[in-house]
Amino acid sequence: MYKSIATVSLSGTMSDKLEAISAAGFEGVEIFEDDFLAFDGTPKELGNIVRDFGMDISLFQPFRDFEGMPEPHRTRAFDRAERKFDVMEELGTDLILICSNLSEVSVGGIDRAAADLRELGDRAAARGLRVGYEALAWGRHINDYRDSWEIVRRADHPNVGIILDSFHILSRRLDVAPIRSIPADRIFFVQLADAPMIDMDLLYWSRHFRNMPGEGDMAVTDFMRAVVATGYDGPVSLEIFNDQFRGGFAKTIAVDGCRSLVNLIDEVKNAEPDSKIIPPSMPPKAIMQGIEFVEFAANDEGEADLTDLFQTLGFAHAGKHIAKDVAVWRQGGINLVINKEKPSFAHSSYVLRGTSVCDIGVMVDDAEAAITRATALGVQLFSQETGPGELKIPAIRGVGGSILHFLDQKTNSGDVWDIEFNPLAHIDADADRDAGLVRIDHLAQTMGNDQMASWALFYSSIFDAERGPMFDVIDPGGLVRSQAIEGRDGNVRITMNGVESGKTLAGQFAEESAGSAVQHIAFLSDDIFAAAERLRSNGFETLEISRNYYDDLEARFGLDAELADQLRDNNLLYDRDNDGGEYFQLYSRTFGSGFFFEVVERRGGYAGYGAMNAKIRIAAQKRLLRKSYNFS
Ligand code: MG
Ligand code: MG
Repeated sequence: MYKSIATVSLSGTMSDKLEAISAAGFEGVEIFEDDFLAFDGTPKELGNIVRDFGMDISLFQPFRDFEGMPEPHRTRAFDRAERKFDVMEELGTDLILICSNLSEVSVGGIDRAAADLRELGDRAAARGLRVGYEALAWGRHINDYRDSWEIVRRADHPNVGIILDSFHILSRRLDVAPIRSIPADRIFFVQLADAPMIDMDLLYWSRHFRNMPGEGDMAVTDFMRAVVATGYDGPVSLEIFNDQFRGGFAKTIAVDGCRSLVNLIDEVKNAEPDSKIIPPSMPPKAIMQGIEFVEFAANDEGEADLTDLFQTLGFAHAGKHIAKDVAVWRQGGINLVINKEKPSFAHSSYVLRGTSVCDIGVMVDDAEAAITRATALGVQLFSQETGPGELKIPAIRGVGGSILHFLDQKTNSGDVWDIEFNPLAHIDADADRDAGLVRIDHLAQTMGNDQMASWALFYSSIFDAERGPMFDVIDPGGLVRSQAIEGRDGNVRITMNGVESGKTLAGQFAEESAGSAVQHIAFLSDDIFAAAERLRSNGFETLEISRNYYDDLEARFGLDAELADQLRDNNLLYDRDNDGGEYFQLYSRTFGSGFFFEVVERRGGYAGYGAMNAKIRIAAQKRLLRKSYNFS
C-alpha cells in the first residue's frame, strides 16, 4: 500500500515536515501550494529534497476555480493551469488536484465542465501530466462526488480522473455505495480524513476539525471499502486540516497518521478480502482478557500510605518479589503492585511524579503477536533488564510515558506471580478484611484534551476495542471530556478524561503529577452494600456525598424510600439506564494530587460509568481537597 500525507497536515518548516513524514514510514507527500510558496528554494530543489528522503511527490494541490468559467476568466484559468504545470515538471510530479469551482462568476453545467477538463487533459497529456478532479463539499455547482464523476466520465480523457476525498463525501452524509461502480482506472487518487461529528459550517469544520481515520466519528472504513471494491490499489493519502495538529509536534502527528492508515487498511482488507489492496503484514488486533495488574511506583512513605489504603479496601499482602523491592497485594482477581526498587523504571517514574501508577499489565490472547502488531503501528517498545529467574514480559510505552505490559496464558507470563514472587503466609486478618472485590472494572486515565483522539487511536488500533460516546463532565473549574475504550468482551475498560484547564480536578491532577495518567481505579463488586459495610469496618474512609443528591435521586428515578436510605447511609451514587440496568458507585477520598479509588456494582447489563454522577463526585472531592491526605 502506497501511503501518502499532505504537507498541510503537519506543523513546522518544510524540512521538519518532510523529515517527520519520512521517518514515520510514508512513501509519498502531497505538496500544498502554500507550503511550497513558503519554502525558500526552487521547485526542483524541493523535489530533490523529497526524493532524498526516499519519497515521491504524489501530487501538487490545490488548483482552484477552474471549470465552468465564462471568458475572459476561462482563458486566464487555462493560463494559470499552464503555470502550475511548469511548477509540477520542476517538482517532478505528474498529478494535480483540481477542486470544484467556488467562484461566483462560474456558470456551472456538467457538459461545460467536462469540456473544460477534456481540454485541460489534452494540455496535460502534451506534457505527460494528469489532472484529478475533486468535488468540494461546498463547491458552488459541484459538491457531490457523483456529479464530479459524471464530469470526469464525460470528459472521457485518459489524463483526467476523479479524486475521492472521504471528508467531502462523508461530511455531506452522501451514500458511498455508488463509488463501487466507478472504474478503478478512473480513480486517480484517494484522500482520507475523519472528523468528530459536529453540526457546523462545512468549510469551518473541514479547515479546523479534520482528524486521522479512526480518530473521528465518520464511516471512513465504509468509504474505503467502497473504494477498494472497485479494484483500486493506488495511493491513499491523509489530508488533515486540524488546529491541534498544526500546533503539535510534526513527529508525533506523522507517526499517528501512519498508524491510522496502517490500521485502516488492515480493517478494510479484513472486510474486503478479495480487494487488490495489499494489507500491512501484522497479526490481528489483540484481544484483551483482563487487567492483570496495576503497579504503583513509591518510596517508603508512599508504600506505607498505599498499604494502609489497600488494607482498608480489603486487600491482602500476597507476595514479595524474589529479588526486587516489589510487593503484590491481592483481592479476588485484582493484583496491585508496589514497586520501590532502585534503579528501575518505577523509581525514575517515582522521582518524576511521586507515588503514582507507572505500569499496567494487560492479559491478552497472544502477547508476542500484540507486540508485533504494536511495532507495525509505530508504537514505542519498552524493555528493562531482567534478573535471574525473572520473566521477559513484553511491554510498550503508553499514556503519559507509563508502561503497558502484555501477559498471556500461551507463555509462562500468565504465571508471573508464582514464578517471580514468594507467597506470604495468609493471616486470618486478611480474610476478615476481604470486601469481595472481584476485578478491575475500569481504569481512568487523565490527559490533555488535544491528546484524546491520539490515545483512542492507540488503543483501538492495537486492541480489539471500541470507543464509547464522548461525554462532557462539568467540573466547577471547567470542562472535562470523557470517553471510554472498551475491549469487545468488556473485560477491559479504560476511561480517558481530557482536560484543558488546570482548575479542574482532573487538570490539577495532570499538572501536579507531571502527566501521570491513571487518576482512578474502579473495582467491581458483586454486592456493593456488603462491600460498603466491610470497608467501613476496615476503617476505609468513603467520600461523603451531599445530602441534596439523594433527594434529587429519589425524585428522578422514583426510588423506594428504603433503597434511597441505603444509598444515603453508604454514600453510594446511583444511575439507571433506559433498560433498567443499574449502577452503584462508592468513592474513596482523594490522595496526593487527586488520585482515588472507586468501587462499583453493575446490575442488569448497565454498560456506562455514571457520567451523570461525575459532577457530584467532583464537588464532593473538591470540598474535601483541603483536608485530604497526602502521599509522600
Ligand atoms: Mg481533498
Ligand atoms: Mg469511574
